[in-house]
Order: sequence, then C-alpha cells, then structure tokens
Amino acid sequence: MESIVQSNTLLEIEGLRVWFPIVRGVFSRVRGHIKAVDGVSLFIRRGETVGLVGESGCGKTTLGRAIMGLEQAREGRIVFDGKDLSHRHSTAEARLLARRRQMIFQDPYSSLNPRMTVLDILTEGMEEHGLMEGSKEESALRLLSDVGLDRAMLHRYPFEFSGGQRQRISIARALSVRPEFIVCDEPISALDVSIQAQIINLMMELRQKYSLSYLFISHDLSVVRHVADRVAVMYLGRIVEEGPSDEVIENPLHPYTQALISAVPVPGEEGRKRIVLKGDLPSPSNPPKGCPFHPRCPYAMKVCKEVDPPPAQRGAHRVNCHLHPPGPAS
Ligand code: SF4
Repeated sequence: MESIVQSNTLLEIEGLRVWFPIVRGVFSRVRGHIKAVDGVSLFIRRGETVGLVGESGCGKTTLGRAIMGLEQAREGRIVFDGKDLSHRHSTAEARLLARRRQMIFQDPYSSLNPRMTVLDILTEGMEEHGLMEGSKEESALRLLSDVGLDRAMLHRYPFEFSGGQRQRISIARALSVRPEFIVCDEPISALDVSIQAQIINLMMELRQKYSLSYLFISHDLSVVRHVADRVAVMYLGRIVEEGPSDEVIENPLHPYTQALISAVPVPGEEGRKRIVLKGDLPSPSNPPKGCPFHPRCPYAMKVCKEVDPPPAQRGAHRVNCHLHPPGPAS
C-alpha cells in the first residue's frame, strides 16, 4: 500500500481492521466476526483536529480505542510519530508512546475513579511518568487553572461536581501527562447544551496552547464543523469520505455524507429538504456486498451491489462511491 506519511504527519493508519469474534455453542466456536473497523486508512497531522462522524454503531469508538491500544488490530497498522504501534517496543518506549496518546471519554463520571480526590486523579499519571514540577498541589493547581476550575476543588471527589466540571477534570487528567495527541470520544454529547460550547472552546484553547492534535469523534456534524480542520465520514467500519471540513460540508460527494448534512438544522433554512435514509445501519457482522451503503442509497446502481467502490481523489477530498470513479473528475 502506498504510504501517506508526510513530514508533519503525527498519526498514520493504514488498512486497519478490528474484528470481534462471534462465539456460540458449547464448544465456543467462532461463528463469524463483527467487522467494527474494516479497512480504515487515515492520517492526522501535528496540531490538526480531524473530526470522525457517522451514526452510532459505525465503528468510530472502536477506531479511537484501537489507536489507544485498547483494541487489537486484526490487520493493518497504526504508526504514531514514525513508530508502528503493532511492533514490540521496550517497556520504556511503550510507556512513552502510551503517555503521548490520551483519550477523553463521553461519560466523564464513569471514567473518573470515584474514590480518588481531584488532587490524586490529576497527579497519578504525573507521578508515574516523573513529570511532577514542584509539589503535588502546585502541579495539580496548574492543571486546574488550565481547565478553568477553582483551587477549592482540589480535595473534592468526582461525585461533588457537575457534568461539565467533571469533563474539565477529565481533560486536565489527560493533559497531566503532556500528551501530543488526544482521542476525544463524543466529549460533549453527555453534557447540557448550555455547557457544550464552553467545553468545546476550552478544548480549542488547549489545543492551541499545547500544540495538541485531536481525533474528535462525534455524531454531530455541526460541532465537528466548528472544531475540525478535516472531517472523515465513517459508515459500517469504513471511511467513505474524507477532506477539509468546509469542503466536505459545503460540497459533500458521498450520498451518505449528503444525508448526514441534510439532517443538521440550519437557522433560516427551516424548509430545507432533508434526505431520509431507508432502513437501519446493516449489521457489521454481515455487511452488504459491493458498496456497503447500497441498500440505503437513493442512487444505487447495479454495479454498487457487486463492486466495492475504490477511493477517488477530488482535490484534497477523497470519496468512495461509484458516482465518483478514480481519475480526473468528469
Ligand atoms: Fe450509492 Fe453506489 Fe455510491 Fe454506494 S457506490 S454510495 S450505492 S451510488
């Protein structure tokens, strides 16, 4: 496979497959696989935010977890700063690679240890990696200030905070080990609408301050448009369209992206026609042959039922759809 590495690429994913076995019967035989991620290639540059969008169950979270090493790849590779994560690394190097990649979860409550104070939550990783500067309290207070929380909160427990405050603590914990890359898995979808914008603005400020790169996973295209430099649209374990955010959102090429965008409310365009997709997302254990979107696609042709569409490049924009065959646009 042709490499997509550029000098400023921080993360490169090539042909990644993450399948989960379906085990049945008294002999626990493997009867099939759930193809949660099925041949994904994607890259993220230093300092860039890539938005990953798609319906729930399309494999977004599994892809994020695979990048973090929380799911095992069946095939393909993930290269972080030139290091293939599937290779065996020394313990010290593996710890360093793990420290440089962090994750923020959808539910900040369940991701924080309820028996630990904020002070301990924020300093646990720093102690482990020898990153403490000054006393434990001083180190934790710097992080609290970064995420806009008051010093009086240092000795409290997670249950004493609101959802928005808990997500700020989760962000501070991720920052505590000085990462370069953060997987943000639906970081605002469990929060009140009034709080969401504050958390997004905070994340963007921190990206700037610490030169972070984000993979921002969301089902909400309006949020992704606001935060992401590039957008990747995922359907049934694959990326079907990818490119600069404005380009993908203003000029979506894939019928699935067009349907997702038509569902985003736009003030002043209340009468805009919404594309309603037929049926539900097919099971990832038995994806349709050919283009996986064909049972729901309003433009499906005969070829779509038989042949998986190859990627076609349209400027900085990549799409997998027979309406856009490889080669120059006609
Ligand atoms: Fe629709 Fe065919 Fe394009 Fe798939 S390849 S999105 S079925 S037109």
